[in-house]
Amino acid sequence: MSAAEPAALAGRRARLAGRIGDLDALLVTTPANVRYLTGFTGSAGSLLLSGGGAVLRTDGRYAERARGEVGDLEVVLDRSDAWLVERLGAGTRLGVEEHTLPWGRVLALAEALPAVEVTPAGRPVEALRRRKDPGELAAISRACALTAEVLPAVLKGLSPGVSEAEVARRIADGLAEAGADGLAFPTIVASGPAGAEPHHEPGARTIAAGDLVTVDAGARVEGYAADMTRTVAVGEPCPRLVALYEAVRAAHADGLAAVAPGVAAGAVAEACEARLAAAGLAEAIAHPAGHGLGLEVHEPPILRRGEAATLDAGMAVAVEPGAYVAGLGGVRIEDTVAVTDDGARVLTAAPTELIVC
Ligand code: ZN
Ligand code: ZN
Repeated sequence: MSAAEPAALAGRRARLAGRIGDLDALLVTTPANVRYLTGFTGSAGSLLLSGGGAVLRTDGRYAERARGEVGDLEVVLDRSDAWLVERLGAGTRLGVEEHTLPWGRVLALAEALPAVEVTPAGRPVEALRRRKDPGELAAISRACALTAEVLPAVLKGLSPGVSEAEVARRIADGLAEAGADGLAFPTIVASGPAGAEPHHEPGARTIAAGDLVTVDAGARVEGYAADMTRTVAVGEPCPRLVALYEAVRAAHADGLAAVAPGVAAGAVAEACEARLAAAGLAEAIAHPAGHGLGLEVHEPPILRRGEAATLDAGMAVAVEPGAYVAGLGGVRIEDTVAVTDDGARVLTAAPTELIVC
């Protein structure tokens, strides 16, 4: 099953049309949203949804690709706003994606369409994207399975003297060989004291005996992301690092156990954080406990304390508690899970016991 079957794409556009309220038309310009609704993967595409149907605009560079990707959806090639002038009559209320459309483009649209009311649309496509359909879940599951195969294998092969950049290269090579389309995001490799930075960029630092090494990576398949983190020890770690590891491992287990349909996203974060606080690590928490993912690696809902949005069956979320202690190091353990009708299914299944290489 492909993540972008024509019938599924048409179904998404129909559901969106039912959700745009008092707008007469919606202009979708966010690349991931255009892809979600049309299957088009080019970087220059806009989708107009109106009473007249759906139209994808791109330019000549992408003509062939668009024809191959969007089925029988109407495609226009236009670098200007003339295609909109032709399709939008006087008095039309046109919604735009104000969170991603540059202000200069909003002004240009208002100038090109003087008789049209250009208005913020909110995020109706992102709202639809929260729950994945079976084709999307299949792509996410495949990306996760590849990541869960490659990441632990690379980590087991670490030894003192290997650089962080080399670890990132092994992950990229392994995922490519396994059949991934690419990386969902630049791999994070943080060793020793650098582990205290949650988003440390892999550099020339070489792994030393006794380091914990945190690697956060994900494959991309059909545009969909996986997100997984494991922390391993290279050589015997000191007791403080082992205690840090076990606290995060317990928080991760509590977070996964909290994932279920109808549960507030914030409750998952609270489950993780309560466990870390009980271990005296409240000050070591540096980021939310997770996030939705799909065509983008970070999508709503964010799993953070107080977040009232509920988890629903069909969502894919990453649960990733971590603890970061300056001068000592850090630990993060992350799995991507699918929210099911009665709980959750871990898609990046791999053991979480501390591996000592
Ligand atoms: Zn991650
Ligand atoms: Zn993540």
